[in-house]
Formats: sequence, C-alpha cells, structure tokens
Amino acid sequence: MSGLSKTTRAFHGFRAAVLTATALLAASAATAAATPDTDLPVVRAGTAALLAARADWAAATTADDRTAAAQRMLRVAATRMQALARIADGEPQLLASAMLPAHEIARLPAFVRPYLEERRTVQGTLEVRWADYGDHARRMDVLRSDDGRWQLRYTTDPRNSRLTTGTSIEATGVAVGDLLALDPGAAEATAGSSGATSNALPLAYVFGEQRMLVVPVNFTTNTATPYTQAQVYDQFFGGVAAYYRDVSAGRTWLTGDVTPWVTLGLDPNVCDIEGVAAQADAAARARGFDPAGYARVAYVMPAMNCGWAGLAVTGPAQPTRTWLTTTQTRVIIHELGHNLGLHHSRGRTCGDLNPWSSACQSYEYGDLFDVMGNADGSPFNALQMRRLGYFDGDAAATTTLVSAPGDYTIGTYASTTTLPRALRIPAGTDPVTGLPRSLYVTLRQPIGRDAALAYTGIDPERLNHGVVVNAGWESDGDVYLIDSTP
Ligand SMILES: [Zn+2]
Repeated sequence: MSGLSKTTRAFHGFRAAVLTATALLAASAATAAATPDTDLPVVRAGTAALLAARADWAAATTADDRTAAAQRMLRVAATRMQALARIADGEPQLLASAMLPAHEIARLPAFVRPYLEERRTVQGTLEVRWADYGDHARRMDVLRSDDGRWQLRYTTDPRNSRLTTGTSIEATGVAVGDLLALDPGAAEATAGSSGATSNALPLAYVFGEQRMLVVPVNFTTNTATPYTQAQVYDQFFGGVAAYYRDVSAGRTWLTGDVTPWVTLGLDPNVCDIEGVAAQADAAARARGFDPAGYARVAYVMPAMNCGWAGLAVTGPAQPTRTWLTTTQTRVIIHELGHNLGLHHSRGRTCGDLNPWSSACQSYEYGDLFDVMGNADGSPFNALQMRRLGYFDGDAAATTTLVSAPGDYTIGTYASTTTLPRALRIPAGTDPVTGLPRSLYVTLRQPIGRDAALAYTGIDPERLNHGVVVNAGWESDGDVYLIDSTP
C-alpha cells in the first residue's frame, strides 16, 4: 500500500512539472524579445544541464530518483526552450549554433521532446504579414498546415522571393514551439502552385469595392473606449476612403461597418492577435456582423501592447485581416496598402550609382514621398501606383515608356496635369528572380496630394528643382527611392 501511494505522489509531482513546463512555454511566446547576448549562454547551459539530468534519469535505481530526474529534465528543457524561442524569433540565423544535435535529441525520452527544437519540413498555405513598428518593420509570415499554424522566421531576406499570400509552399527549418526558423532560402512554392505567378501587374484584387468590417476591441481588465463607434467609422470610411477614392481615380472604394466595442477575455499585455481575431469574430457574429461577408477585417485594439502600430496581411486571401493599435489615418492607409498587396517603399543609397548593387544601403520606410514609406497623405510612388493598376489606362495619369535617349516632359506628380506623370525606364532583368526591372522618374512638388511634403524636412531646393527616381521590379515586392544626390 505505501509503495502505491509513493508512486501516486511521484506521478503527481511529475504532472506538476509538465504543467510548469507548459506554462513557461506559453509565457515565452509573449516575451519574445531578441537578446542573443544573454540567450545563447542560457541555451548552452540548459543543454549541459539537460544532458546531465538525462544521465541521472537513465542511471536512477529508485522510482523517486527517476521522477526527480525527469522533473529536472522538464524544468531545464522548458527554461532552455524559452531562450531558444527568443533566438528563433529575433535572431533565427543564430539557431544553428545553439541546437542540440539530432543524435542527442534521439537519446532523450519522449516526454521531454515537446520542449525541444526539431528539424521539420512543413507544407501549407502562406500568409504574408507585415508588422509596422514606426522605426522598423518585420515580416511576420504565417504558414497554415494540416497540423496547425506556424510562425515563420526567415534567416535570409525573403524580399522579392515571389511568395504571396495563398501560395502553397514547402518550408524547411528548425521548429521551436510554433516558430519555424527557416533554413536560408528554404521556403519554396510547391510545384503547380498558382501563387508563384499571381504577382503579375496590376495586382488582381485591387479594383472595386473593398468591403471592410472594423471591430473595436477592449479587454475585461481594461474596458476603456477611447473613441466612439462613430469616430472609428469616420476614420475608416471618411478620411481613408477619400484617400483611396482619390489616388485610384475612383477604381478602389471602401464600404463597410464598424461594430460596437467588444470586450475580450484576453490579457492585453500578451500580443495574442490570433486570439483577438477568433474572439472578436465570434463577438461580431453575435451582434449580426459576419466577418465572412467582408473582403477585409480590421481589429482596432488601442489597449493591446504589441509594440507595433499595425500588422497587416498582404494580398488576395479573403477576408484579409489587419490589427491596429492606433486609428491614425496614415497608419490605416498604410495597412490597407499592405492588404492591397503592397510591400514597403524603401530608400536606397548607393555609392556606385548602381541601384541594383548589393553594396547599396537600404532603409525600410526610406521613401519620403510615399505612404508605404514615410510620407503622410501623398499618393503612392509611380511603381506602387502601377502595381495597383491606378496608372494605366487613364489619360491623366499615364507613364511614358522610355526606350531611347531623348528629351521627355512630365507633369507635376500630384496635381491636375495633362502631361504624363512618370517616365518608366526599363533596366534589364534581375539575374536572380528573372523579373524585369525599371526606374521611374517623377516630379514631386508640395502641391495637391503632395502638399504635406512641404513639412517633411526635405530640402525645399531639392524638392522644387529635382526629379525623384524609384527603382523596383515589375512585380510585387519592394520599391526603392534612390538617393541620387551627387
Ligand atoms: Zn508596413
């Protein structure tokens, strides 16, 4: 009898250790800040402690010793995995140097495997996401597979990799919890996937009505409602709608609804946007708004602590979701630009006057003339406008294709003009992607929709007497404002 109760007690202790390990892991996702300097030593020390606990567990001669060693293994593995998750999240290229070798993982007992990294190949459907922090941006792509949802982290820059939302891909890398840190270049479109060719210009899902559901959310621990439902409506369907109707010359327009505030049972200090989407969708349905009936769904969540102003899914999947911690007009315009398939309008400074050189310095929001960069209220730059289809087939907004040296005349970009607004200069084919490249030349002056450029700190002499050059690929992807200052 006493032996049995001892085993039961040991078993309970073991379960408590598993629960502690699970709780630690859940916490790790919420506190994922990149601190490789401190996390790499934690992982290495954890690896040593884990292997020592495994040796004790294998050598244990009594049930109590074996349970104690198992509990230690779980605790050590969970703490180690928290640090590993922060590395996978923030510095995924460092994971390789921190991983347990496969033969060591194979020697560890099955009950500890959920708390270990693992090499995996996952097939699923890609969702391309951008998070905008104001001073920097992060790709936060998600891969939906049969066995769940993976957060992708890229060890090499995925720009212009021709991956779009909805593409079926096969991704190989190191799984840590629900993070999948991809091997360099390891996310590839699977054979026969339509996504790889869906980035032809203009992007197909831009024109017409964009029916949008906006759900303002607060939390049971913070039920503040900093804006009225009517104020939220005005932001989206007043200012933002007017912007898109104007720059698209009526080709894209916003309609939709704002639900009353909904209160979610989530901790606003944990940036659980999937939880927000699931709970807010259910709350919206209960109030008679079915998210499935909209092309775009936006969650306004001013009390949630995520670090970014907005996080948006790019491209064609419907409904396309956006999470916002602010209702600033320029942020909503920017995130909706992502929804319509745009990436960022970056800046580039090149020492050798070759805008395609790998030696160029790039700046995430470096296009001071474009809301997908750092402008406020200006139209999109010429290549972004072409991606959206807003430039072609409109007499007032055509581009002149430059195929020979000569004199060409363009009008001021953001004012009413009968002149072409941009020159497009073909610039060969990208040797890596095979995509055609172009330079766009425009004349940006602080008038019309560009009026706010007068207040951006751009040197007025340069603003009034020079042209602006953008370089990019005739596809979706980034576009670069070239600093052509001699
Ligand atoms: Zn962005």
